[in-house]
Amino acid sequence: MPARTVPQHVVVVGAGLAGAKTVEHLRARGFDGRLTLLGDEAERPYERPPLSKGYLLGSAARDEAFVHGPGWYADHDVDLRTGCRAVRLDLRAGEVLDADERRWRADAVVLATGSEPRPLGVPGADLDGVHQLRTLPDSDALREALTGRPRVAVVGGGWIGLEVAAAARQAGCEVTLLVRGPAPLLGALGPEGAELFAGLHREHGVDLRTGVEVDALLPAGTEVATGTGARRVGAVGLVGGDRVEADVVVVGIGAAPRVGLAREAGIALAGADVGGVAVDAHLRTSVPQVLAVGDIAAAEHPTLGERVRVEHWATALHQPETAAATLLGLDEPYDRLPYAFSDQYELGMEHVGHVGARGYDQVVVRGDLAGRECVLLWLRQGRVLAGTNVDVWDVVDHVEALVRSRSVVDPARLADPDVPWEELAP
Ligand code: FAD
Ligand code: NAP
Repeated sequence: MPARTVPQHVVVVGAGLAGAKTVEHLRARGFDGRLTLLGDEAERPYERPPLSKGYLLGSAARDEAFVHGPGWYADHDVDLRTGCRAVRLDLRAGEVLDADERRWRADAVVLATGSEPRPLGVPGADLDGVHQLRTLPDSDALREALTGRPRVAVVGGGWIGLEVAAAARQAGCEVTLLVRGPAPLLGALGPEGAELFAGLHREHGVDLRTGVEVDALLPAGTEVATGTGARRVGAVGLVGGDRVEADVVVVGIGAAPRVGLAREAGIALAGADVGGVAVDAHLRTSVPQVLAVGDIAAAEHPTLGERVRVEHWATALHQPETAAATLLGLDEPYDRLPYAFSDQYELGMEHVGHVGARGYDQVVVRGDLAGRECVLLWLRQGRVLAGTNVDVWDVVDHVEALVRSRSVVDPARLADPDVPWEELAP
């Protein structure tokens, strides 16, 4: 690919939130070259958070999920190609090849290929009635499946598992949540946060079973023919012999970054502990004309001093502005702290910061943990690394300021909601 200061033709691969925001920021900053956005889904770019919340519940309209209106791409001279899967980056020729053997000229490429759900590798995972949740059609199918108030088993105690369990309860279903560890969200929120969410779901009538492993999905006893020879799921089989009867099974056991294009083009990947495509703080891969954004980008973080990859909405929303700046020759490293949010039942939470590979040595609770109205703060050697606010609002900036200040804080004052945030760090 020829090296240029400012490219003439940018191809963005992946038409999710990160891809859509990349073209938006390029145009907003005055890029007037050719702009192509290739996406393998049928829809124009949309956001995924509603798919496990309002849209799944029927309380949010489909239109609200889309990043831009239908005419936006043409209006901004963006050649959006839906249903178009990129299959190879030909860096020598400066082209992206798609599945229909078309070649898209590119003197810079932005990879925004996101993640795909991990499959549950057990017998019966392909039975009818077994769902995963990543796309609008997945959400449509699950919403339809929940309408008859089936018995629902959710496999996986991560974000999908908990949000779907909440939605299914709200839809009036009996829900069993199957978690292989000692508590849900343990990796994300530690024991205190995990217990808070476990309690929330139990109080809402979810049958939460921890320390269980699925070894098969079992067909319904009557083996209802569907016309294709497929059979419907009827139960989840657990290691040890127990079974959980279920008409609908939702699998949410993590997502894998889609790095195939990068790997096959010889672009450096991050280590297995982080995953994804290795990028610098300007979001450049090991090939300078190729950038990566969103779920797949394992970026060197100036403030955190380590490589981080974040599978959450805010990163897909904000990294594209940095990518656009980089393509335009500007020096604007990506330095936002990781941020995530979730809504389950009536409860809302946000998380900001990053505990990182070195871990934490103290957890401080500011507020009422039992009443689920608090901020959890993770510290190492007296310094705040990250915080999660649960039904407490307008504190993210304060937590972020503490993280960035790197100052040693007094844990007793940090725990006291009467001590103003502004007085906690010099
Ligand atoms: P994606 O959204 O995965 O988009 C990538 C796009 O690229 C996809 O359309 C994909 O099909 C396409 N693509 C991949 N390979 C190719 C190819 N070779 N050629 C063409 N196209 C390709 N985060 C939060 O912080 N809060 C939430 O409440 C929240 N809720 C979520 C709910 C659900 C159901 C899901 C699935 C995720 C949720 N997330 C949430 C996470 C957030 O949605 C993701 O982090 C975000 O979607 C990542 O955006 P992305 O553009 O990097 O990737
Ligand atoms: P996730 O949040 O990474 O959680 C995966 C969960 O599945 C973990 O609890 C993990 O447990 C468990 N697990 C892994 N392998 C398993 C197995 N073989 N059997 C049983 N459990 C297993 O992933 P997700 O919930 O599937 O969500 C998919 C993606 O969407 C993620 O990128 C997520 O961040 C994103 N998402 C985000 C939000 C949000 O931010 N609000 C909402 C929905 C989706 P261990 O901890 O034991 O490994």
